[in-house]
Amino acid sequence: MTDSAATDGAWPADDHVHSQFSWDAGAGDMEATCARAVQLGLPAVSFTEHLDVGAWQAPPGGWAWRGTVRGRTDEHGRFMSEPLEVQAYLEEVERCRHLFPDLRIRWGVELSEGHRHPAASAEVVRWGFERVVGSLHALADLDHPGEVVEMRGAVAQRGALGTVLAYLDEAAEMAASDAPFELLGHLDYPLRYWPADAGPLPWGELEERVRHVLSVLSGSGRALEVNTSRPLELVVVRWWREAGGQAVSFGSDAHRPEDLAVRWREVADAVRAAGFRPTADPTALSGRS
Ligand SMILES: [Zn+2]
Ligand SMILES: [Zn+2]
Repeated sequence: MTDSAATDGAWPADDHVHSQFSWDAGAGDMEATCARAVQLGLPAVSFTEHLDVGAWQAPPGGWAWRGTVRGRTDEHGRFMSEPLEVQAYLEEVERCRHLFPDLRIRWGVELSEGHRHPAASAEVVRWGFERVVGSLHALADLDHPGEVVEMRGAVAQRGALGTVLAYLDEAAEMAASDAPFELLGHLDYPLRYWPADAGPLPWGELEERVRHVLSVLSGSGRALEVNTSRPLELVVVRWWREAGGQAVSFGSDAHRPEDLAVRWREVADAVRAAGFRPTADPTALSGRS
C-alpha cells in the first residue's frame, strides 16, 4: 500500500472539542463524545476545555448565553467564568481512556488571550496539556481602558468590519507572543457575529492583514486551525500554505457530543485540495501535501 492510499481516505482527528468541564458546555459529556468519536471512526479526539481568565465586559443589552453557563457577573456587569477544575478533568480523561482504549484521547485547553495572561499561561505549561488551542474571544474595551469586551460588545464599539480588523491585529500580536499554544483557533471567530444584512465579508480588502497574521503564525512554528463550526474560507488555507504554514488542525468546536466532527468530510476534502492532508500518523495534525 502506498502512503497516499493509506492516508487519502483517513479522517483527521478532532483537535478542538469541549466537554462538561467547559463553563459554557452545559450539554457537554466526555464519555458520550468519545463514544461518538469511535462510532464515526475518528482516530483521535482532543478535549480543549475553556481556560478563560479575567473579566469580560458585557455586551450592550447584557449577556444572552445559550444554554447553561457556569460563572458570575460582578457589580460592574462583567462576566467571570468558573475556573477549570483541572484535577477532576484529568481524572475523567483517564477514565475515558480506559473505556475507549483504541481512541487516542488528548487532554488540553483552549487558552483565551494567552498573551494578556502570563500567570494562566504559566499554569498551562505546568499542567502539561497535550493540545493547547490559542484563541481570542475578547478585544480591548474602548470604553473601559485596560479591560476587554466580548465580541458583541466589540461590534457595538467598532462596527462589524472594524471588529474583524481589530481581531486580526490582535491575533498577529498573540501569534508573535510566547503564549504557550500550538494551534491558532478560529481566526474567523468574529464572523460568528457578522450581521446577516452586511453581505459577504470582503476578504479581498483583508488579504494583506490576514496574510500578515499567517506569516507571523508560520514563523512561530504553530499550526492554523480550520474550525468547522463555521468552515474557514479556503482562500485563507491557501494563503496559509503560501505563508509557509506547515500544518493545519481540524476542530469542530463541539460543545455537545452530537456536534463532534461536524462537516468533517467536506471540509477535509476541501483542505486537502488546498494543500494539506493527513500524515502517516492519523492522530497527528495534517501536513503539507
Ligand atoms: Zn473559542
Ligand atoms: Zn472552543
